[in-house]
Amino acid sequence: MNSMKTQSSVVVKKFGGTSVGSIERIEQVAERVLGDTRKGQKPILVASAMSGETNRLVSLASEINPAYRGEAYDMLLASGEQVSISLLAMALEKRGLKPEPLLAYQLGIQTDSLFSKARILSVNHEKMNSIIAAGKIPIVAGFQGVNEIHKITTLGRGGSDTTAVALAAAIGADSCEIYTDVPAVFSADPRLVPKAKELPVLRYDEMMEMASLGSKVLHFRCVELAAKYKIKIHLRSTFEKREGTWIVPEEEAMENPVVSAVTHEPLTAVIKLFPVPKGTGFLADLFDKLSKNNVVIDIITQSHNEEGQRLAFSLPMEDLEQAKEIIGSSYGDQVNISVMQDKAKISIVGVGMRNYTGVAYRFFNCLNKNEIDVDLVTTSDIKVSAIIDKDKLSQAAIGLHSEFGLDNDQ
Ligand code: ADP
Ligand code: ASP
Ligand code: MG
Repeated sequence: MNSMKTQSSVVVKKFGGTSVGSIERIEQVAERVLGDTRKGQKPILVASAMSGETNRLVSLASEINPAYRGEAYDMLLASGEQVSISLLAMALEKRGLKPEPLLAYQLGIQTDSLFSKARILSVNHEKMNSIIAAGKIPIVAGFQGVNEIHKITTLGRGGSDTTAVALAAAIGADSCEIYTDVPAVFSADPRLVPKAKELPVLRYDEMMEMASLGSKVLHFRCVELAAKYKIKIHLRSTFEKREGTWIVPEEEAMENPVVSAVTHEPLTAVIKLFPVPKGTGFLADLFDKLSKNNVVIDIITQSHNEEGQRLAFSLPMEDLEQAKEIIGSSYGDQVNISVMQDKAKISIVGVGMRNYTGVAYRFFNCLNKNEIDVDLVTTSDIKVSAIIDKDKLSQAAIGLHSEFGLDNDQ
C-alpha cells in the first residue's frame, strides 16, 4: 500500500456500531471529537453502520436469496455506513467543526473484486491530506471500498476496523485508535465469560490468532495490516475514559503467558461427505470450487475404513448456503451430504504455548470433565481449537478460562 509520513497531530479514530448506535451516541462522539480538536488533534474519523443495521440488511438479502453474494449484496450492505457518517457529519457541523463525509469511492479506497470479502489494495492519501490541510475533518465510511471498475465492495463483517488501519497506514501514522463498546480486549468475550479480565497489552500474533478464531472485537485483516505496517492499535471504550488495550509488535510486549485468551466462534457449521473418492483429486476439486466462490473453509478432517472415505470440514455459518449449493450441484449424485448447524468453535490462544508441554492435555481434560464432546480439532504452536455443540459453548469457555488461570479473581 502507498504511504506517506504525516504530522503527528493527525490521528485516525474509528467508532464502531454501538458508538454511533443512536442520535444521542452520535452527539456524544461529536462532543468527544470536539474536545480532541481543542487539544490540537486533527482527526480522521471512520464510522461503522449504526448497530443492528448491517444485520438488518443481511436478513433482507437472505429473504430473497440466502446464497447470493455479488455486487448488489455489497451495494446493499455498504449503505449502512452512509447513514452513520452523514449523521456524524451533521453533529460535528452543529458544533462549529468542518466535517467532510466520504464514501469509499470518493476517497479512493481501492479494493479487489471479491464481493463481501474484498481486500484493500490502496488508499488515496493525497486526497485525505488535502482535506486536512483545508482544516476539515474527513469522516470515512468504514467497511466499504471500490473495485477497478467502480463497483462498491465490502470488506467482510467487522471490516470498518480494517478501513481505519488502512487509512493510518496510508498516511504513515504509527498508531490507530479503535473506539468500541468494551473498555479493552479481554481474556475472553466478557459477554460469555463473566470473569474475563482486561488485557493491557497484546502482541500482533496473539491478536491475529484471536481475531481469526472468532473474537470479533477486532477484524482479522485490521490486525494483519497493523502488523505489516507496524501500526500500534489502541482499542478503548467510546464512553469511558480508560486506557484500554495496546496491540503492539512482539519486542514491545513484556509477558508471554502460556494461554492469554479463550476465544469462541458461535456461528459455525460442519459439513460431512460420505463416501468420497479415494485420493486427493476429489479434495482438490472440491476446495477449488468452494474457494472460487469465496467460501471460507476452516478445519478439515479425513478418515477411512472398509466402508469408504469420509470427509468433514467446518465453515462459517454465513457461507453455508453457498457451500451447500455448490456441493449439491457438483457432487449431489455421488456422495451423501450431511450438515450440522448448531456447532461452535472454542479455542485457546497464547504465544507461551510454544515453550510448554501439556497444554493440549489440559484443554481436552477440561472438556472431558465438563462432558463436552469434540467433532473436529486443530492445533498450531500458539492455539488449540475444537468444534463442539453450540449449547455447550458457555460451559466450555468458562471451564477453559478457569483451567488456564485467566479468571479475574485467580
Ligand atoms: P464495534 O461495533 O465497536 O466494532 P463489535 O461488536 O464488532 O464492536 O466488537 C465488540 C464486541 O466484541 C464486544 O461487545 C464483545 O462482546 C466482543 N468480544 C469478543 N471477544 C472479545 C474479547 N476477547 N474482548 C473484548 N470484547 C470481545
Ligand atoms: N457495519 C459492518 C458490520 O456490521 C462493518 C463493521 O461494523 O465494522 O459488519
Ligand atoms: Mg467490530
